[in-house]
Amino acid sequence: MKYIVVLADGMADEPIEAFNGLTPAMAAHKPVMDAMCKQAATGLVHTVPQGFHPGSEIANMNILGYQPSKYFEGRGVLEAAALGIESEPDELVFRCNLVSVEENILINHSAGHISTAEADEIIQTLNSELGSEKIKFYTGTSYRHILVIKGANKNVKCTPPHDHPGKPAHPLFPTAESPDADDTAKLLSELMDKSLKILANHPVNVKRRADGKKCADSIWPWSPGYRPAFPSFKERFGMDSGAVISAVDLIHGIGKLAGLESVFVEGATGLHDTNYEGKAAGALDALQKHPFVFLHVEAMDEAGHEGDYQLKKRVIEDFDSRLLKPLWDGLNKMGEPFTFLLLPDHPTPCNLRTHTMEPVPFFMIKPGLDADSVDSFNEETVKNGSLGEILGENILDMFFK
Ligand SMILES: [Zn+2]
Repeated sequence: MKYIVVLADGMADEPIEAFNGLTPAMAAHKPVMDAMCKQAATGLVHTVPQGFHPGSEIANMNILGYQPSKYFEGRGVLEAAALGIESEPDELVFRCNLVSVEENILINHSAGHISTAEADEIIQTLNSELGSEKIKFYTGTSYRHILVIKGANKNVKCTPPHDHPGKPAHPLFPTAESPDADDTAKLLSELMDKSLKILANHPVNVKRRADGKKCADSIWPWSPGYRPAFPSFKERFGMDSGAVISAVDLIHGIGKLAGLESVFVEGATGLHDTNYEGKAAGALDALQKHPFVFLHVEAMDEAGHEGDYQLKKRVIEDFDSRLLKPLWDGLNKMGEPFTFLLLPDHPTPCNLRTHTMEPVPFFMIKPGLDADSVDSFNEETVKNGSLGEILGENILDMFFK
């Protein structure tokens, strides 16, 4: 038996006025998804546990059977895992943005979407000026990097920089949530202040300023956590091995911690111009090697964040004709029984341009599981599905059982 999960990030939505009250999934022409749905049992799944924000990392961990209340430590460790950084149990891992700060105002969270090559020069300077046995910076992608501090205390409150553009920077600096974290909060604030001085006339910034671009003026560490001890996917579900295909670091990080292989597909951008055919081919290839594949597609989520419902409808149609079609044909030609699950991780309604907590539609095709009467796949139809409403943390147990 082969097992494949296709995760359509942010596909679920709300009624759109310009579509006469239809959602993008209802308005889209998606004959393959609907044909698959006819052979499937359907339902609604609560992917985000109560008390958590509806982030993709939370929803995807939960769907993969790792309950966030037990295993979520922070974004930093997930991204560090994706980069292959092996942190020790006493090392606290932060996501470390490069941000733009002008006259003590946090201008933006991304240093004007600095390139990875420029950022790498900055990270190297930070390591030589501020790094030590205890403090290490690692280059990630664009403005998204990693800071590891040995012996630091996790009880520090760090502010996500993207939540506060245009606000004075210093009042947003890390603070201790308990007295034993005072030293860590102080150290973080010192590192941030020192980075401002070190980076003020860094050659990369001098050039960016001359080109009229935003600068990498400061580091901004946040989302601290220790490396979580995930039970492996084999321990969790008895699968000998599996692969994760995604354009998103966080998803690969979750996969790495679960002991799944990371597969990268050329041209997978995470946007509407992604290599849909390549992802389908990558998944079919990976299924030759592994019994399980988790195929993540980001493009719908990005269209939702842009608030572009026409784009979202088109992305769903492309996903249908260019990814699901070849994948479905390939699975049926494989000559082996398979179990198939399709679901979004959370809604990203175009009207809100951010994620919500609402349950999302899913369908499951599995030998021995009877199809229900739902014959087109969207937020409304699945309310009549035979699988009812389930919790995200149980969906793979149901899938593998
Ligand atoms: Zn999103």
